[in-house]
Amino acid sequence: MRVDVVSIFPDYLAPLGLSLVGKAAASGVLDVRVHHLRDFTHDKHRSVDDTPVGGGAGMVMRPEPWDEALRTVAPEGARLIVPTPAGRPFTQALAAELAAEPRLVFACGRYEGIDQRVVDSARERMPVDEVSIGDYVLAGGEVAVLVMVEAVARLLPGVLGNPDSLVEESHVDGLLEYPVYTKPAVWESREVPPVLLSGHHANIVRWRRDESLRRTARNRPDLLDRLPASSFDDRDLSI
Ligand code: SAM
Repeated sequence: MRVDVVSIFPDYLAPLGLSLVGKAAASGVLDVRVHHLRDFTHDKHRSVDDTPVGGGAGMVMRPEPWDEALRTVAPEGARLIVPTPAGRPFTQALAAELAAEPRLVFACGRYEGIDQRVVDSARERMPVDEVSIGDYVLAGGEVAVLVMVEAVARLLPGVLGNPDSLVEESHVDGLLEYPVYTKPAVWESREVPPVLLSGHHANIVRWRRDESLRRTARNRPDLLDRLPASSFDDRDLSI
């Protein structure tokens, strides 16, 4: 997969060279290129922002450099992702959808965001998603891109050491994952739940399912509300 990121703070994207994403890039599964938006300006001050039309606080990113940048780095066949708190939510399902794309381009906004005409114009030549990573406002799109690229990269074939890790985890089947433990069996007088040491596979599966349901009900009841009745068995319903 090829990923291009356009930003006025390319250094902010340096963590894409580390850890799992960095290894994916080193192994050739992922090709990440970061571009400086100011390289697409032509005035003395390399300006990328101007005052909002209609008044109001802050500055808005100018359309000209953005349009030139996107026409340069986003060829036919690419999918453009524009991080914005006003976008559709970024979810595991969207991460899986993006992981199937050959080429993603991310446009990192700053200030009050990018002139909307850039997004509308790009939409005429490629698929465009305005995406939010949560209901809060960051200072720029770079952190959102780090979040999204990491979530996508770990889904690419060959990136995780054990692909089974992707099967049983939060947000895959609509539930949160059960609590996990490692050795020692007793740590500071706290025991690992005995069922996990029993070797009884069916009981372990059942315990994990129960804990997953309890944790989801406690932390994210909205997720349970969204699941169809067919997702639950008789034993689930007694929890
Ligand atoms: N004026 C915008 C609004 O109220 O919707 C907020 C602009 S924000 C200060 C600047 C940039 O940060 C945005 O253009 C976007 O790139 C990024 N950003 C902020 N919060 C975000 C979020 N929750 N998800 C994705 N990107 C975000």
